[in-house]
Amino acid sequence: MAKLAKLDDIVSLCKRRGFIFQSSEIYGGLASCYDYGPLGVELKNNVKKAWWKSTVQMRDDVVGLDCSILMHPMVWKASGHADKFADLIAECKKCNSRSRVDHLQDKDAEHSDEHTTHADIDAELATAHDMSNKVCPACGAVGQFTEPMPFKLMFETQMGANVDDSMLVQLRPETAQGIFANFKNVLDSTRVKIPFGIAQIGKSFRNEVTTKAFIFRTREFEQAELEFFCEPGTDEQWYQHWKEARFNWYLDLGIKKENLHFRDHDPDELAHYAKACVDVEYKFPFGQGDWQELEGIANRTDYDLRQHQRGIRSLNNWFESDKDLIRTKLIEESEDYLKGPLSYFDDQNKKRFIPYVIEPSAGIDRSALAFLVDAYDEEEVRGETRNLLRFHPALAPVKVAVFPLVKKDGMPEIARRIYDDLKGLFNCFYDEKGAVGRRYRRQDEAGTPFCVTVDGQTKEDNTVTVRDRDSMDQTRVNTTQLRTFLREKLDL
Ligand code: ATP
Repeated sequence: MAKLAKLDDIVSLCKRRGFIFQSSEIYGGLASCYDYGPLGVELKNNVKKAWWKSTVQMRDDVVGLDCSILMHPMVWKASGHADKFADLIAECKKCNSRSRVDHLQDKDAEHSDEHTTHADIDAELATAHDMSNKVCPACGAVGQFTEPMPFKLMFETQMGANVDDSMLVQLRPETAQGIFANFKNVLDSTRVKIPFGIAQIGKSFRNEVTTKAFIFRTREFEQAELEFFCEPGTDEQWYQHWKEARFNWYLDLGIKKENLHFRDHDPDELAHYAKACVDVEYKFPFGQGDWQELEGIANRTDYDLRQHQRGIRSLNNWFESDKDLIRTKLIEESEDYLKGPLSYFDDQNKKRFIPYVIEPSAGIDRSALAFLVDAYDEEEVRGETRNLLRFHPALAPVKVAVFPLVKKDGMPEIARRIYDDLKGLFNCFYDEKGAVGRRYRRQDEAGTPFCVTVDGQTKEDNTVTVRDRDSMDQTRVNTTQLRTFLREKLDL
């Protein structure tokens, strides 16, 4: 049975083996910011590659995009982020620390509920919050909070040096809006026809009130988002399709089924524009709730394209922040509205509509953490503890390590030749230092699926041993067959 990893085990392995380091550590560190080390960057790149492969490469109906992080401020006005992307917070009068109201626990409650997403701040403000029994997570004081207040989550920065044309811009809090803003560009420059999707992977920034659990919630993170555009009326079918596809992606990459489930959003938890939303949750070994969001899949209706349609029209004249006015405008279905640049003309059926959008939105760092946790194992081997990461080959930072058994008798030269031959195929590692057993253990901890060792027999019959990380079984393979053997085993 695999051992359940504790977060401390993961953090220390990540530091020890060069997966993840605290940012600016030599200066004492910068809270909630992390750097990916030599193994970590390979893992993260592999997570992104696997997402891109299944979402873009293997499909005929999805294209990719890579948008800038800084965008026109109108994008955030139209999307609703400028006015609504905020968390409700309260300050502890005893220790002055601020907490997200939806993350606060009542005294004597068994679990905190961290399920509320950054949804609608107006709805949260309109709700009565009983703070009398809430416990401060920083100092433990009970019922000592101020009245809840909104806290904006977008980072801002100044763009340009000249007084005349410099402006305040935001670091994007999600990648999705870059996709909506390029909807027309993609339509005009490619042959896509609805239903189709646009995918993007990139950095997002949120000035989170509280960060937590290593790379689980940070202020700078990477997202993988797909906006799948479809005809209204077909949206529910596509929502089901993407739910299934995204769930299976995690399973196909080795996440254990018992650690993954769906959690449907309650109707009162849904963002006002969303018709349905489900989270893919993973059973993380931290926090009181255990099950925590890995990815959200939402039916966003035609909200975003409509909002941008309105944004384009009212450029330089955006004055409607009143909620009712926005709602009234949103439900208008005038002919004129459909002539806007973000509508779609179905030339086969001769009809025009604003597409509905299904959005699977995943966190790359959060997925990487889930893959690390799920792959982590410890086992007793001949009286010693063996730590290993049972990564799926597609995710393993190093696919094959090549060793000479000892550093003499021509073994290093042969091993080098094999290494040079294999490294063009997959990420390989050469190591000739120390006892071979220790070298195997180091690769186990890095999650390397196979180790190839050149030994005394190699010179006689041209065979090497191939050691399997999970079973530790060793097979003799002729060097002329090695490429094919490893290719088949790794299935890359
Ligand atoms: P939460 O409620 O956890 O703050 P959310 O529901 O607001 O998150 P989304 O806006 O749906 O998150 O973002 C999609 C995905 O992006 C999340 O499922 C998560 O994997 C990732 N993500 C969001 N915020 C962060 C963060 N601060 N750090 C790391 N990953 C994040």
